[in-house]
Amino acid sequence: MPIASINPTTGETLKTFSALTAAQIEEKLQLAADTFRTYRHTPMNERARMMQRAAEILEADKQALGKMMTEEMGKPIKAAIAEAEKCASVCRYYAENAQRHLADQIVETNAQKSYVRFQPLGPVLAVMPWNFPFWQVFRFAAPALMAGNVGLLKHASNVPQCALAIEDIFARAGFPKGAFQTLLIGSEVVEEILNDRRVVAATLTGSEPAGRSVAGTAGKQIKKTVLELGGSDPFIVMPTANLNEAVTTAVKARTINNGQSCIAAKRFIVANEIYDEFERRFVEEMRALKIGDPMEESTDIGPLATPQIVNDIDEQVKKAVASGARVLTGGKKIDRPGNFYEPTVLVDLDIEAPVSCEEIFGPVAMLFRVSDINEAIRIANATPFGLGAAAWTNDAKEQAQFIEEIEAGSVFINGMVASDPRLPFGGVKNSGYGRELAEFGIREFVNIKTVWVTQITQNKKTD
Ligand code: NAP
Repeated sequence: MPIASINPTTGETLKTFSALTAAQIEEKLQLAADTFRTYRHTPMNERARMMQRAAEILEADKQALGKMMTEEMGKPIKAAIAEAEKCASVCRYYAENAQRHLADQIVETNAQKSYVRFQPLGPVLAVMPWNFPFWQVFRFAAPALMAGNVGLLKHASNVPQCALAIEDIFARAGFPKGAFQTLLIGSEVVEEILNDRRVVAATLTGSEPAGRSVAGTAGKQIKKTVLELGGSDPFIVMPTANLNEAVTTAVKARTINNGQSCIAAKRFIVANEIYDEFERRFVEEMRALKIGDPMEESTDIGPLATPQIVNDIDEQVKKAVASGARVLTGGKKIDRPGNFYEPTVLVDLDIEAPVSCEEIFGPVAMLFRVSDINEAIRIANATPFGLGAAAWTNDAKEQAQFIEEIEAGSVFINGMVASDPRLPFGGVKNSGYGRELAEFGIREFVNIKTVWVTQITQNKKTD
């Protein structure tokens, strides 16, 4: 895949980049290793000061950074600006909390003193996707740098300008030159970098095949990994739910980021009693979405990031129809320049058909009618993924059952699945392992060192 910014709204190539040479990669890996040796001793308040500065830069430059994201991957401009703001919030969160998260923890034992100390590991490779081109990177980088690690970013090949802008933000914030470096490289070089002894761990946010590949290489080298992979999140609506709120949130949850979010709701599982009403209103609201230029503030749905994604979705919709599904709205590419696909609603899906539990990475919703909560949970769990889940009900017993039985890294009751710096984020099953954000996230790339100390006085010398 060439390293290039190609505007998904117009198809125009904005800028192309050459991949780093072997000598340039070597230089950057050595700089990372050298920087780590000193950076790890930087006092926590000094790291926090630089991280606060990074937050200020993100806030000050949010318009320009938002425009850059929209031009490279097509998300609506309002959401792109909000993404820059959210990155500032995660920088501030870790600037304010990392010291507490990583303070020594005293544990009473038979020693005079025993405690747990959290120490940085070294250069960590971050392989990141294009869909939230700033947020995915910052939610790794803020805790990693606050913990005293240094970061090496291999960003998706279609967002090189975002990748370079992020490196620039950390440099302007005062972090030493090798603390956070962008590597403009193709995915075929990742294995070699992971095999390098100077790289001690890796995190990957992306697709299942990429996750398997990176984790396989790291496994052979016995290096720690965190994987944030795909999802096919269920959105369940039960009879006691507030239907107005549920429908509006369902449409937003499916179409956020033009439908290209790992935690977008993808399968809508609705109780029989309210199904017809839900379906009618959901289709109406999907039809009412404004499709167009993502640079316009009023646009709800912009283009998909690449022509390949449009083709993949078209293929999945055709497969669903071939296995018996009906299209209530949408169902095809939009005849205009750019990578546009109609917001689509599919019903009457065969639950056994593979497409029913696959991840659809675009504005395509699948609706399922269920007779009770047990059937809802069975369908919710009938996917290899386990990232997030939303359940809408005001019945306390049902809420408790959803929380207990849904196989996912998060369950949101009467709300939309979203990440928040204060809460851990991650998945189970094929959605990956490990956690980002909160205290759990900053503890992923540290040596959790056990310290056990007892003083034993010397034997008195006898002459
Ligand atoms: P992708 O193709 O897996 O790409 C993600 C990153 O991995 C890119 O930097 C890519 O580089 C690299 N990559 C691809 N194949 C690789 C390999 N074999 N070895 C090493 N690196 C490799 O995913 P995507 O299409 O960009 O992103 C969409 C996927 O990400 C969806 O499945 C989505 O659900 C998932 N996602 C998950 C989360 C989460 O938090 N769980 C968040 C966002 C997205 P190139 O661009 O150079 O190919």
